[in-house]
Amino acid sequence: MPAGRWVGNFAQQRHALRCFSMALAFPMLAAVLHQQQSPWQFWLLALSCSFLWPQLARYVVLRSAAPKRTEQRNLLTDSVLAGLWAPLLSWNLLPVLVMLTLVNVVNMVAGGWRLLRQGLLACGAGAFTGWVWAVMVWPGYEPRIEPTLLTLLATAPLLLLFPMALALLNFRRSLRLLRQRKELMQQSRIDGLSGLRNRKYWEDCVSREYERHKRSGSPLALIMMDIDQFKQINDRHGHRAGDLVIGQVSRLLANSVRTADLLGRYGGEEFGLLLPDTDLQGALHFARRLRLAVAALLIQPGAIRCSISLGVAQVDADIEHYGQLIERADKALYDAKREGRNTCRHY
Ligand code: GH3
Ligand code: MG
Ligand code: MG
Repeated sequence: MPAGRWVGNFAQQRHALRCFSMALAFPMLAAVLHQQQSPWQFWLLALSCSFLWPQLARYVVLRSAAPKRTEQRNLLTDSVLAGLWAPLLSWNLLPVLVMLTLVNVVNMVAGGWRLLRQGLLACGAGAFTGWVWAVMVWPGYEPRIEPTLLTLLATAPLLLLFPMALALLNFRRSLRLLRQRKELMQQSRIDGLSGLRNRKYWEDCVSREYERHKRSGSPLALIMMDIDQFKQINDRHGHRAGDLVIGQVSRLLANSVRTADLLGRYGGEEFGLLLPDTDLQGALHFARRLRLAVAALLIQPGAIRCSISLGVAQVDADIEHYGQLIERADKALYDAKREGRNTCRHY
């Protein structure tokens, strides 16, 4: 995902979550402020926290060169605000516990132990500031920790809905990460031009199948193929046409093999094909079919024709490593080239 879009998504999600939680917090704050007949400054702070702060937080993230770090700073500001509200709500147990719990859960989710530790310190700093402020502007300030039914009802939406929103956001993020992981894995295994396994992945598959074969003792054959005079095709029709030839030959090969066969692009215009449960005769027969199919292929645009040469080898008692099987098939392939191309030889 491009960095800009990532920042956009990230900022958007955080913004949505903050707007949602702060809006849900407002009735809770208002209920307590109303019941304790708080000074007007507290009302002003409640309105600012609920409706102005989320906008400001988004603005700074979008303008930041390091949006992730800026958002962590915003989360710490959330923590300061949660701490600040504790004394301003006269330590009313229900809203204070809910706010402190939620803010610290978010910190833990977003930044692990480190952000949780910093968030707790920020809560402490906010609580101290709030307490000093309350004592200064509110004569007769004293803790009133017992929540009323109204406070309970006003706190319920935040308590019920915010954890669900947070869980949903994280569930979606996990899904996205899983999808990206799958895509990356696919990209690292599949060759872009031919759509076949790339050399490394093909060799890994061959190695695994070879080990399986050693245990089961079933026959195993390997074909190496190379497009004939491919340099001439490039020279005559251009490299884009050459790419097209590789693409179409690959598709034809892929459509011709069985599901259990392992096909891969070994190099430029060279392909490898491992045939499990197939002996030399079977592999030679199949190689002939492939050779004839490629020779009959008419590649458009440009009506290009091409042919392939093939080398076949099978596993026998003196092979100790799958690499030897590839070497033998490759050697047979060079025999085929030497003997005039568009043909098949075996080791
Ligand atoms: P031979 O019959 O002996 O195999 O001759 P050849 O011309 O096919 O073999 P050579 O190895 O001389 O040339 C292979 C050419 O394939 C050279 C290289 O530039 C070209 N090639 C390799 N990979 C690609 C690719 O992905 N796209 C295109 N268009 N050309 C490629
Ligand atoms: Mg070639
Ligand atoms: Mg070649």
